Amino acid sequence: MYIKNINLQKHSSIKIGQIVEVLMIELGDEIPSNRYLIAGANNLLLSDNPPPLMMLSKDFAFIKEEDDFLIIGSAMPTGRIVSYARKHDIAGFEFCAKLPGTMGGMVAMNAGVKSYEIFNILHSVKMNGEWILKEDITHGYRFASLSAVVTHVRFKIIKGFSQELLDELKDLRSNQPSEPSAGSAFKNPEGDYAGRLIEAVGLKGFRKGDMAWSEVHSNFLVNLGQGTYEEAKFLIDLAKEKVLEKFAIEMQEEIKIL
Ligand SMILES: Cc1cc2nc3c(=O)[nH]c(=O)nc-3n(C[C@H](O)[C@H](O)[C@H](O)COP(=O)(O)OP(=O)(O)OC[C@H]3O[C@@H](n4cnc5c(N)ncnc54)[C@H](O)[C@@H]3O)c2cc1C
Repeated sequence: MYIKNINLQKHSSIKIGQIVEVLMIELGDEIPSNRYLIAGANNLLLSDNPPPLMMLSKDFAFIKEEDDFLIIGSAMPTGRIVSYARKHDIAGFEFCAKLPGTMGGMVAMNAGVKSYEIFNILHSVKMNGEWILKEDITHGYRFASLSAVVTHVRFKIIKGFSQELLDELKDLRSNQPSEPSAGSAFKNPEGDYAGRLIEAVGLKGFRKGDMAWSEVHSNFLVNLGQGTYEEAKFLIDLAKEKVLEKFAIEMQEEIKIL
C-alpha cells in the first residue's frame, strides 16, 4: 500500500473537494477497517474535512474468465466492462453503459437503470478473501449491506450482448444534465419520483452560489462552476425540509455525504 495525493475536485464527478491523502490498496494488502473507501467518486459529496480515505489501486482493475464465470476486479471502470462484454458477446452488462463508476461502486450502490440492477446479474462477491453468494447479502433499491470492501465480483457467463438494449438505455440519458453532478441526489420514494417532488416544492433550477437543482432533471444537483460542499449541502437540506413540509415524505439521499 502507498499514499497518493488525490485532487477530489478533479476526481469526483461533482467536482467538489480538496487535495487529500488517500491510502492506495494493492493486491495482497490487508485492507484497513478504519478508512472510508472511495472508488470512482460518482456518487459522493465530500466535505473539506473528509474521514481518512482509501482506494483500490489498478491491481484491482481486471477482467478474467474462469470456467463459466467472469471475474471482475472492483476497480474496473464500467465503460471497460461494457466494452469487454460487447467484444466477447456476453449478455447482462448493457445497462452499465453511461453509468459512471467502478465494479465495486456498482455493487455497493446496487446501481441500475429502470429494472436493470447489478444484483440481478451478479453471482457472488469476494470480501476478506471469501466468496459470498448474492443470496446471503441483504440488498435492495440502490443499496447493499456489505460487511467489508468487495475486491472481486463474479458473474455466470451468459452469451448474447444486445446492442439494441444498450442503445435503448443510452437514449434514456438524453434528459440528463451535462454539468458535473453525482447522479441522482435522492432515492425515489416508494411510488413517487424525487425529481417530481423537488419540482413541486419550487426548487427546479434553484441556485445557491454555484450549485443548483438542475433545470433539466430536478433530482440532479449540478455544479455550475466553483460550487462548494456547503452550497450543495444547503440545497440538499432545503429540498428535504420543503418536501417533508409539503408532502410529509422523508426523502433519503442516494448521494453519500462524507
Ligand atoms: C451523470 C451520472 C449519472 C448517474 N446515473 C446513475 C444511474 O442511472 N443509476 C445508478 O444507479 N447510479 C447512477 N449514478 C451514480 C453512480 O454512477 C453509481 O452510484 C456508481 O455505481 C458509483 O460508482 P463509483 O465507483 O463512482 O463509487 P463511489 O461513488 O466512489 O462510491 C459509492 C459508494 O460505494 C462504496 N464502494 C465503492 N467501491 C466499493 C467496494 N469495492 N467495496 C465496498 N464498497 C464500495 C463507497 O464506499 C461509497 O459508499 C450516476 C452518476 C452520475 C455522475
